[in-house]
Amino acid sequence: MKILEFSSFMEQRGCINIGKDFFGSYNSIPFVVNFLTGAKDGSVIFSLRLQTIGAPPGRLFSTLRKQMKDYAKLRNVAKTKNIFNILVTTKKNLPLEEVFDQLFAELDATIAMLGIELPDTCPICKRSDCDSFAYIGLTYQMTHEDCVRSQSADIQTKVQENEMSGGYLLGIVGAVLGGLVGIIPSVILAIFMNMISGWLCALIPLCAYYGYKLFGGKMSRGTLGIIVVVSLLMVPATQYLFELSWSIKEGYGAFSLLEYFEYIAAYPSEILPSMLQTLLFIGIGFALVFRFVSRNNTNTLQQVTFSEETLRPIPQDAKGERIEY
Ligand SMILES: [Zn+2]
Repeated sequence: MKILEFSSFMEQRGCINIGKDFFGSYNSIPFVVNFLTGAKDGSVIFSLRLQTIGAPPGRLFSTLRKQMKDYAKLRNVAKTKNIFNILVTTKKNLPLEEVFDQLFAELDATIAMLGIELPDTCPICKRSDCDSFAYIGLTYQMTHEDCVRSQSADIQTKVQENEMSGGYLLGIVGAVLGGLVGIIPSVILAIFMNMISGWLCALIPLCAYYGYKLFGGKMSRGTLGIIVVVSLLMVPATQYLFELSWSIKEGYGAFSLLEYFEYIAAYPSEILPSMLQTLLFIGIGFALVFRFVSRNNTNTLQQVTFSEETLRPIPQDAKGERIEY
């Protein structure tokens, strides 16, 4: 079975198809099926993913595997807590319809039998009485159409605003101010404890990034470069304030930043090891920022667009009761 046949089969089951992923529901159980491969002998391998509440439902898997043993081989591949993820290999020559319908009937029955809870509150507004399914976060789940649409519209507006008005200059000002806020804990610790904490230095790039964002800095690849440069400038600044506070406390008096630089140039081995340590921790902070920035506006936009594309009303019959498929 090829992906084309598989997708027409899944579309008959009311699933939305994007690439090799299929988003659907059975009896109000929202699921994601990912087509992996179809062999010549008629067997099909796909993964089935859905979200539960609480610990990973090991019993759901073992019960389901037993019930399905004449139809398919099941393998538990869940890596994320609360995500039920199984690999299904259908038995040779068994029609996919039969395996699939059996799998979902058993899944539904097992969930009910074991009293496993599936989330029924909207992840956006946290209210229940959901009317739709959409892919949000890691799974296909219950939500409100209005919530998904308004979230998507909000983010689109924000991205457009950032493209129109976001500027580097204001962003840099914000990053410098943020970076200065970021060194405050380090400086306080330096004054009272007479030490520089590496972990507090890791805050510097984070604060610089938030400052950049707060001042409406334009989000692009250049953002990371700006955060790096500003954070690096904060290293001598932190060191200077640390040495200054020590000097004043010990009664040696204050000295200017310029004098400090002259001192570093004259005795580099006195200061550089400590600076390198600070740099190392700023690197850690930067790695954290990188994780935030890589989920920046554009990625968030992709996510909400994806949520919107997979949006589908919860199927209901004439009486308003939820129905199968
Ligand atoms: Zn909602």
